[in-house]
Amino acid sequence: MYLTILYRGSLISCNYGCEYCPFAKRQQTAAELAIDKQSLEKFVNWISQHPQHQFSILFTPWGEALIHSWYQQALVKLTHLPNVNKAAIQTNLSCQLDWVEECNKDKLAIWATFHSEWVSCDRFLSKCLQLNHQNVKFSVGVVGFPKFKSEIAALRQELPNQIYLWINAVKAELPNLSPADREFFQSIDPLYELNTKHYPSFGHSCRAGKSVISVDGDGTIRRCHFIKSPIGNIYDSDWETALYEQPCTNQTCHCHIGYVHLDYLNMNQIFSSGLLERIPDDWTIHKS
Ligand code: SF4
Ligand code: SF4
Repeated sequence: MYLTILYRGSLISCNYGCEYCPFAKRQQTAAELAIDKQSLEKFVNWISQHPQHQFSILFTPWGEALIHSWYQQALVKLTHLPNVNKAAIQTNLSCQLDWVEECNKDKLAIWATFHSEWVSCDRFLSKCLQLNHQNVKFSVGVVGFPKFKSEIAALRQELPNQIYLWINAVKAELPNLSPADREFFQSIDPLYELNTKHYPSFGHSCRAGKSVISVDGDGTIRRCHFIKSPIGNIYDSDWETALYEQPCTNQTCHCHIGYVHLDYLNMNQIFSSGLLERIPDDWTIHKS
């Protein structure tokens, strides 16, 4: 079986303090972090103990994970497993990047987000250039608030042309954006408008629940991050019985990590093997 797992453990803390984020500058105790580490190590072991399946894994932490060595080491281990096709992670890229060299970089991918209120463009850019130099697949993103426009333009100017810079559409802010704001975001990210929609999903076929699942630190399986009912647990012997095709039960889906799995949207055609780390197959062809 080919299975994509979005892993989100009990980490809920971050070294940055973005004003729009519930995890801003939250701290966790050593005991809480130890639980997250233990859960992650158990998950990585579980992956290694299922060589009959092929896995792609995206870490979607609440908070910043890569400042913790156990997430770095999880990526090192996973990228060397023969039954792992890809291990990717969402990050603010504030960590050191020496651990990257220990990974099998053919299988590593990074979804990096630039937070201009917490890091200078130069510093963030230097991390991107380092990843590029290390031949790591990565995308770069920015949250689509108009107040970040000058920083976004500067980042686009300096990033190598082949690196895709996406804009995360802030759905609640869309009515307040001027046509010029939207045009600006679209000029930076040719796929921006795709991310502005609440896609009808109720009753539609979605790979989430069958070949894509969400797993938490206890091993609880949910079909995706947006439908909270558990459907099983990877640590149960019959975990595979939880996976079957079923139509979506939510009215809409508006987050990249969800709607890309809706069959009718055919997002595979755009993102192909870069679906998890949000890298279009050839993003430059989407420029007009
Ligand atoms: S870097 Fe990410 S997790 Fe941290 S405060 Fe900002 S948005 Fe939240
Ligand atoms: S469409 Fe979105 S909400 Fe519905 S099952 Fe798929 S990922 Fe989950």
